[in-house]
Amino acid sequence: MYWQPDEERMDRKDLEQLQLERLESTLNRVYLNVPFYRKKFDAIGFNPDDLRSLDDLRKLPFTVKDDLRANYPYGLFAVPLREVVRVHASSGTTGMSTVVGYTKNDIKTWSDLVARILTAAGVTADDVIQISFNYGLFTGAFGLHYGAERVGASVIPMSAGNTKRQIKIMQDFKTTALVGTPSYAMLIADTMMEMGINRNSLSLKWGLFGAEPWSDAMRKELQEKLKITATDNYGLSEIMGPGVAGECLARNGLHIAEDHFLVEVVDPRTLQPVAPGEVGELVITTLTKEAFPMIRYRTRDLTRIIEEPCSCGRTMRRMVRVMGRTDDMLIIRGVNVFPQQIESVLFEIEGTEPHYQIVIDRKGALDDALVLVEASEKIFFDEMKKQTELIETIKKRMASELGISVEVKLVEKKSLERFEGKAKRVIDNRKL
Ligand SMILES: [Zn+2]
Repeated sequence: MYWQPDEERMDRKDLEQLQLERLESTLNRVYLNVPFYRKKFDAIGFNPDDLRSLDDLRKLPFTVKDDLRANYPYGLFAVPLREVVRVHASSGTTGMSTVVGYTKNDIKTWSDLVARILTAAGVTADDVIQISFNYGLFTGAFGLHYGAERVGASVIPMSAGNTKRQIKIMQDFKTTALVGTPSYAMLIADTMMEMGINRNSLSLKWGLFGAEPWSDAMRKELQEKLKITATDNYGLSEIMGPGVAGECLARNGLHIAEDHFLVEVVDPRTLQPVAPGEVGELVITTLTKEAFPMIRYRTRDLTRIIEEPCSCGRTMRRMVRVMGRTDDMLIIRGVNVFPQQIESVLFEIEGTEPHYQIVIDRKGALDDALVLVEASEKIFFDEMKKQTELIETIKKRMASELGISVEVKLVEKKSLERFEGKAKRVIDNRKL
């Protein structure tokens, strides 16, 4: 099932031609309307009319999050404010938030691109879709909301929080699709089990999760606990919000809406393109955005592109699920590791619960990582020997599979913080 079959299955040659035309018009638009870009282009003597091929894009400088902050709030808008019909802002976890805007056309495109990922993930007009992202400045809830209405599904704008009520609504309103962060879906699933609610009393079929990196092990667990087919989707407010890429039911990579976004993968240190299929930082240029075009935006997200065609018939290339953010990468005694890799290992070990926290400290010249893991009740009521064995198993698996040596502490079920939005799994005391 496709939302826009002609676009989603476009011939690659035609797609490249379309990308080139759209890139040219985007570069012209920012050159004329955004002083920030004009200055940058002039500094390297680049005129948008000189663009001959998609590769010419590489001559242009990157745009980074700090550029957005420096132009707070409206400095990078390419249209007058009177043409902007919506404003969103990204969570300002590290300093000032960044502001993005949309014209009427941008909202229409956004809705269609979200409709694409919803359709690819199985959602139709017959579905009842519960949006459990926080409604507000964050793009997640409104993005999915408009896309779901576009598909014709019945939308329940639930927002995050009030977990018991979420479950009651899910039962009473016969919700068939749940949208939210994977960590919040896990909290809903666990709360349901505690309340003694049989998952068969729900009508859930689909789970569309995004806004934070998660592992395949977590997917498996969510699918079992909620009896759903769970898909991953990807987006970021600086580029548009959700709808940039999403999994089809083959669930082997996320199809990128390449007719609207041009992607590059670069080595985050050298900023040179990686070899095809290699892992690197995703860089995105918008091709159709009117209010807030972005040229070569460094997402900080690490992924790789799958060049092979997908069994679903879409010709849009896929990216593997985001492996982590360049700034989330932990270096534990010289070994690079991402929180999701630690999560994957934990999920495979019996006796642990899918809740964990990683605390990094520096003692002298060395980094110490302590992994706090919730253990199942059974382990806690068992003899001490069982706990010691479990700790040893976790340490051994971390060493053999990730090459890191960590300390492990088992904590009681429900003792770690739960998250309704994006989960905060790492406490890095080295930066404080
Ligand atoms: Zn596919």
